[in-house]
Amino acid sequence: MHPLDPIFKPKSIAIVGASRDPRAIGHQCVKNLLDSEYKGKIYPVNPKADEVEGLKCYHSILDIPDEVDMALIVVPAKVVPAATEECGKKGVKGLVIIASGFSEIGRKDLEDQVVQIAKKYGMRILGPNVVGVLNNPLKANASFAPYLPYPGRAAMISQSGALLIAMDARTWVDHVGISHMISIGNMSDLDFADLIEYFNGDKDTNVISLYVEGINKGRKFLDACKKSKKPIVAIKAGVSKRGASAAASHTGSLAGSAKIYEAAFKQGHVVQVENLNALFDETMALALQPPMMGDNLLIITNGGGVGVLATDAAEKYKIPLKDAPDDLKLLMRKHMPEFGSPKNPVDLTGMADRVNYEGSIKDALKHPWVDGLVVLYCETSFTDPMNIVKGIYNSIKESGVEKPVTVSLVGGERSIKAGQWLIENRVPYYSSPHAAVRAIAALRQHGKFMQKPIRDFKGYNVNKQKVDAIIAKMKSNGRKLLTEPYAKEVFAAYGLTVPKGKLAKTEEDAVKIARSLKYPLVMKIVSPDVIHKSDAGGVKVDVKNEKEVREAFREILDRVTSYDPHARIDGIYVQEMAPWGTETIIGTTNDKQFGPIVMFGLGGVFVEILKDVTFRIAPIDKEDAKDMIPEIKGYGILRGARGQKAKDIDALADAISRLSQLAWDFKDEISEIDANPVIVYEKGLCVVDARIILKDNR
Ligand code: ADP
Ligand code: MG
Repeated sequence: MHPLDPIFKPKSIAIVGASRDPRAIGHQCVKNLLDSEYKGKIYPVNPKADEVEGLKCYHSILDIPDEVDMALIVVPAKVVPAATEECGKKGVKGLVIIASGFSEIGRKDLEDQVVQIAKKYGMRILGPNVVGVLNNPLKANASFAPYLPYPGRAAMISQSGALLIAMDARTWVDHVGISHMISIGNMSDLDFADLIEYFNGDKDTNVISLYVEGINKGRKFLDACKKSKKPIVAIKAGVSKRGASAAASHTGSLAGSAKIYEAAFKQGHVVQVENLNALFDETMALALQPPMMGDNLLIITNGGGVGVLATDAAEKYKIPLKDAPDDLKLLMRKHMPEFGSPKNPVDLTGMADRVNYEGSIKDALKHPWVDGLVVLYCETSFTDPMNIVKGIYNSIKESGVEKPVTVSLVGGERSIKAGQWLIENRVPYYSSPHAAVRAIAALRQHGKFMQKPIRDFKGYNVNKQKVDAIIAKMKSNGRKLLTEPYAKEVFAAYGLTVPKGKLAKTEEDAVKIARSLKYPLVMKIVSPDVIHKSDAGGVKVDVKNEKEVREAFREILDRVTSYDPHARIDGIYVQEMAPWGTETIIGTTNDKQFGPIVMFGLGGVFVEILKDVTFRIAPIDKEDAKDMIPEIKGYGILRGARGQKAKDIDALADAISRLSQLAWDFKDEISEIDANPVIVYEKGLCVVDARIILKDNR
């Protein structure tokens, strides 16, 4: 037995706060359990009532002469602690706390108190501030939503109660089949991760669908998603642009929560959707159809217009249509009049009847080139949509292959009815070609996830002790900012390439150091008070000889002192100048929910103005880092554009991975890392600027 079975497979349910007032939630919960024909035992509890909805009402939960698996708590917030205590004494195992008035209105203290009591008795809590649990397999509506959702195999979990009730109603219109609909509320105990884990083991569920506003334990969520064998589809609401704008580094200010959730979903193999319609559409597709295991999508249509719309959507959702092979085109020819088109989309023409659809679909699905199929139909005057969909269904069945199919029927009531029939027969139907394509794109996304197994992070062999020592030294000096020389020592300890160089305290020092290096050189101010060296006039590039070294030394000191007379100056860093290449940026920051995250982008205006960057939750290995690189819009520049050769993507991925490991290894000490710029070449790269900001604590 799973510890959450008492909540999701209860044999008996008590309603603590059951009421005789039909308008009260405590009444609705009793009535809903009765109306939904729950087969378990229902025990209303209320000290002032003897009977509710014809059921015997107990004055205390302790009076119930039987075991109670789950209790719905519908008493006012201030008496929830006492009710929880009683449930504990009774031996209740799961609490669904519908009552509100806790952390959502600033009463975290009251919520914590309830959690403590529940813990003492080993009870798990869903809520508080939930609508309840709508359980189709058990036919138990343990909630104040009016009825159970349209039955099916998706577990839908919502962080918004109002939305859950609305979505419940909508499932009956869209015919999106639901096993469980769960309101997750304040997540004082059970959170998304716990439910994902639970529904992975639930035989009545084959897809998990999430409406997410915010997640506290980001890592726990990510781990649960990674372990999930069942597809997860999610919408993230409340994506704020206001990242940590006060942060000193680029990564900090660019890491808005939207990008981080996007990264987490990708890494957790969660299909992220753009809006509520898509959540319904993709939930249905993932529940009814197999994943799409290749990129070859074929579209069959009886109308050119919907074919074009579908073609556009295919490009938008990243499964652009390709030309079908000649033998497939020949096969398609057999099912259309002379003026049809066997290309992709296959246009059967407005003359197409059931026989044409059946024949072309069956041949297409059986052809090895086809990985997935979208069937489009425009209602015509001489065809009956019901007849057409029966043809579609038959041909899928007779093809005998496991390939995904989605269907769009564009038309009136007859088409809608026919679509409903399709859904009942496990073929997803949508009213628009756009939605049918988007749904198959979600199936492709899931297929891609399946083809790319999640690996454990192994990590590089690095010199951690060295970094420990440097950080300890900084701390003892009370320094939060690791200046470039120290930061580069840290980078080098993690296997990153940095230019040769040394810190000069005096002009003579600088000359001596210059003699041990290769011209041209770069000279830079080193000061714990100067974060952006160029802004302070603290960087001199292309220093060509000893005379220029002396000049640069004085010039930099002059400029920095006039920029900030109080700046403490450690000296001037004399280093070799890296050859010209493509400037990129790699950075890390600490996210409140997800911890260390790593960012990659192109340097200069690309990062400053276009914010063309991409994120991952750290650490990531080189293979995963490689996936980040094509995600930026400026990828063409790295791939080699306008006569330039391609840059060393492998070296770049290696550097991203190493820095992600550094951020992870020192997550308690390091707040932000900035490698900006990292100059990339056809072979190899060089990190020419580095800074590390330590955490404030201790
Ligand atoms: P900051 O970012 O603090 O202003 P940087 O160290 O990044 O200072 O230097 C400013 C610019 O100078 C860099 O963006 C890079 O273009 C160039 N630069 C700095 N160091 C080197 C180097 N060793 N080799 C080549 N170019 C360099
Ligand atoms: Mg810089």
